Formats: sequence, C-alpha cells, structure tokens
Amino acid sequence: MIGRARQRQTRGNTTKRVLLTAAVLMALAAPAVAGPVDWGGLAGPTQAQSRVYGGHALGCLDGAVALPLDGPGYHAMRPSRERYYGHPRLIAFVEDLGRFAEANGLAPILVGDLAQPRGGPMRSGHASHQSGLDVDVWFRPVPPGEVGDDARETLSAVSMVASDGTAVDPSRWGDRERRLLRAAAEHPDVDRIFVNAAIKRALCQADHDDRRWLRKVRPWWGHDAHFHVRLGCPADSTACTQQPPVPAGDGCDAALDWWFTAEARQALEDVRKGPRRQIGLSDLPAQCRAVFEGS
Ligand SMILES: [Zn+2]
Repeated sequence: MIGRARQRQTRGNTTKRVLLTAAVLMALAAPAVAGPVDWGGLAGPTQAQSRVYGGHALGCLDGAVALPLDGPGYHAMRPSRERYYGHPRLIAFVEDLGRFAEANGLAPILVGDLAQPRGGPMRSGHASHQSGLDVDVWFRPVPPGEVGDDARETLSAVSMVASDGTAVDPSRWGDRERRLLRAAAEHPDVDRIFVNAAIKRALCQADHDDRRWLRKVRPWWGHDAHFHVRLGCPADSTACTQQPPVPAGDGCDAALDWWFTAEARQALEDVRKGPRRQIGLSDLPAQCRAVFEGS
C-alpha cells in the first residue's frame, strides 16, 4: 500500500513538474489568462479604430475616446478613477446632453463613470460599463462655476428617493431631472436608461404630452442618485452584442409594481450576498485579448 502510494506520489510530482514547466513557458509567452486581469491598470486606449467587442457586462473596446473634463453644460466627476473613456458615440451623447442642459437654462450635468481606457471589467463598482456604451449621470444640480478640481473628487451624488424607497423626495426631484431624462431617452443612440423604481413610478404618474419615451426608462435597484444611460450597438461595431429589445409599452404596469414587493427586496439581498463574478481574459470576446495586450 505504502509503496503504491509513494509511486503514485512520484508520478504525481512528475506530472506537477510538467504542468509547472508548461505554466512557466505559457507565462513567458503571454500574461496569465485564467484569473481576472487588471483592466484598470492599463495606460490608455489602444490606437486602433473605435470598436466595441461583446456586451455591457462582458466586453471591451478599441480606440476609446476620452471625455473632456468640462464642456458646455457638463462636468466630469472623479477623474482620478480614469473611467471617463467611451466609444465616440457615447462621448457625443454626453456632449449633446450637456448642450441640452445649457440651451434650456438647466444646471450643468455631473457625469460619473463611463468606461476604463480599454473598457473591460472593473475592480470595483459596476458589473457593466465594460464596452464603452454606458454612462452614469448624477441627478443633483450644482450651480454653474462650482465644480473645480477639488469638488470633482469630493462632491457626492444625492439621492432623489425618499428614505422608505417608495417615492421620490419632492424637495429634490423635479422638472429639471424629468427633462434631462426625457432628453436622454429621446436621443437616437440611447437604447435604455436605468433609474430607481421610485423614479420610474414618479415618471409614470406625471402628465406628459408624449409618453413614448417612458418605454426606454427602466426600473432597477439603486440608481436613486444617478441615472445610467446605455447606448445601442454602434453601426461600426459588428462584434458588439445587442441587448434583447426593451418590452413594448411605457412600462407603467404590474412589472413596475414588482419592484416594490418583498420578493424584489429579497432578490437584491441575494445579489448583494452572492460572490462577485471574476472575469478572466478567456471569458471575454476573443478580440479583447488583443485590446488588453495591444498598444
Ligand atoms: Zn452605471
């Protein structure tokens, strides 16, 4: 018994050595691929044509463009995080929404995360924002001229939802926020927008001369202090994964009521307690390896 065990062990050691050697050779040839790699540590975008690969929660992007930190009607927040990159269509969308705010006399919009310089999974925060087509826009207004370099890093987003989670806070939520959401939803490149269910409910209960835009505004957890805008796949990116279409109708129905149930709260708890998904290079579209390793 002992002899056979030792024999097995020797064989095991040999196998281990072969595997180790193979691993070292692979490591010399290419970065480790099995585990997650740090997309946040990359120096800058690739110099390639702008292209989206994969989807919002499993993707990356070539030739990303940096959002200028200030433009008409907007300010980019938390630049130290280096998440102000996106597909050119996303940058154009942010600039369009800023111009809308300015042209309509609304306080400038504060822009949160877009994507990392080459997209990809983030170390912290979002599961999406990987393909350069997602952007967070804070709801809170800030008087013009009050966003200097310090404020950019220290100002916080402010919730528009009352503490019980069932309705908006009328002291904060109002016409400006509604108009920004409508302008974003009516932008031709926008596929959908995520907001807290209480915000969706407030939109449903308000009078609108046209309700078609409500369809694009979807309820989700969180999203009480910012709205999350997601563009559809750009025409130049054939390897971009399109999401299933948003259901027909304005979404002001039983599906919205679900978000206020105990079941929805439990589902959120389950997500919070569950493990964070670890995404390695091999989980992403094949093009993302070149994006990660390229210059
Ligand atoms: Zn977001």
